[in-house]
Order: sequence, then structure tokens, then C-alpha cells
Amino acid sequence: MLKTTTHGPLTRIQLEPTILGRPVYQVSAFLLGDTLIDSGCPKTAPELLEWSRFHGVRRIVHTHHHEDHVGGDMLLARELGVEIVAPPRTVPILKSYYRIPLYRKIVWGQPANVEVRAMEEEIVIAGRRFQVIPTPGHASDHVCLHSPEAELLFTGDLYISPRVLYLRRAEDAWTQLQSLHLAASLRPQLVVCSHAGFVENPGPALAHRIKHWEQLAYQARELRREGLSLRAVTRRLVGREGWMTWVSGGDFAKINLVRSLLEPDTATAGGPQCGSVNPGGPDAGV
Ligand SMILES: [Zn+2]
Repeated sequence: MLKTTTHGPLTRIQLEPTILGRPVYQVSAFLLGDTLIDSGCPKTAPELLEWSRFHGVRRIVHTHHHEDHVGGDMLLARELGVEIVAPPRTVPILKSYYRIPLYRKIVWGQPANVEVRAMEEEIVIAGRRFQVIPTPGHASDHVCLHSPEAELLFTGDLYISPRVLYLRRAEDAWTQLQSLHLAASLRPQLVVCSHAGFVENPGPALAHRIKHWEQLAYQARELRREGLSLRAVTRRLVGREGWMTWVSGGDFAKINLVRSLLEPDTATAGGPQCGSVNPGGPDAGV
């Protein structure tokens, strides 16, 4: 069941795909002016379409290609003629979408191929200029949209929550941390996240998010040095796996996070960290 909340000119549209009538997951799209930021998953596309008919949607702008962000595209393009704009690296994926694994098909649905235009380095939404900021790690094509004037940052799936414990196999934790440092360095007053929604005064939340993973990385290395296996380190630091780990055949798992954090930090090696967050600073404990 679609739910909406507002924050100034922004509307959050919460979408919940179900299995056997039970909600299994939640993701949000956002409306600013006539533009949707992302479009939910294929299974929630019909209800997003009905809502969009009455809210003047003319365009969809994407943060990345994952199926829970692009699933409304085909239906809204066909029924309402909306234009679809995506980061350059996202465009070829959306034009010829790969076959997603079965568990993702069951939970979210398989996206259809769509015609899509590549966004420039800057995009205007509802009269506001947004800079397109590459923020890879969660996905290689992931971008954030930043309005310095409005001190507003759309973060897609970069933030998610203060403590993220599950990673897909393809994700890179250190690259995500670099992207999180970059997001924090922009000092937004409002983060708009596809899962957490509207995060006001997000500095402490971003600092907490960064500190959590950096501490996990340190602790994981210590435990490995003591001779614990990867599985044992994961269990000790972040607990048992959840049901999605089994359903996904290990694609979406806590052990993927710990494995990635144990890899060398190639994202920031050889240069200074971009960003100004001090994970040990006064904001870190919030
Ligand atoms: Zn994603």
C-alpha cells in the first residue's frame, strides 16, 4: 500500500512490494515539481502509475540502476509519456536490462527495457540546480544529486541507515565509505534517502554511518589476526545472518560486508580521504 509524506516541496512515496499479501520490503521514490527521483520496483509500478496520474509527473531521474529504483519506468513511460533521465553509466543497463537472480525477481520483479537519456553534470529540477555527484560502491553507476543552494542531497542507496549490516556480493564497502565521506563533506542540511526518507541535520547520522563501518573494519582485522575464520568474525561482530541471506543464496549477507571490509582499502589508498568527517569526533556517537 502506497503511503506519502511531505517535507516542504518534496513528497516521499513509500512503496512496499508484497509476497502472498505480506509486505517484505520498503523503498521510496520522491516527487519534486514534476520529477520523480527513482520509481520503485516493478511489482509496485501499477500503484505508482495510479498515484502519478494525479500528481503531474512528467519525468523520472535516477540515482542508479537497481530494480527497486527503476521498476516504474516502463509503465509510466508507456502510459504517461514521462521522460527518463539517468546517470551515463546507468543508461546502457536500462536499455537492455540483465536477467536478475530469481530471489530478486520474486521480491522486486524484473525491470523492462526502457528508452532513457543520459544526464549532464548538472540537472534542473523544479527550478533548482542539482549537481550530479558520482558516489559508487553500492553500485558502480550510483550518483547523488546535490543542490548547494537548497543544502539538499538525494542519496539514493548511499546512506540507508546508521548501521548497514548486509551487502550484496558485488558491493564494495571501502568505495562506499569514500562516497559517504564525500557526501558528508558537502554538509547538506537535508538528506533524502530511498530507505530512511528525510534525514534532517544529517551530519551526525552520516558520521555515525561512517564510524560504524570503519570500527567494524578495525575489529574484523584484529579478530582475523587472532586466527578467527571469516564466518566466526562475522558472527562475533554482527551476529547471525537473516532470512534474506538464505533466500538470496548468500548474495545479500552480513558476511559480504565483513569480507569487503577485510579487503585492502584501495578506494583511498595513496591519497587523502576526500571529505572532512572525523569518525572519532564529537558528532560520531549520535
Ligand atoms: Zn540499490
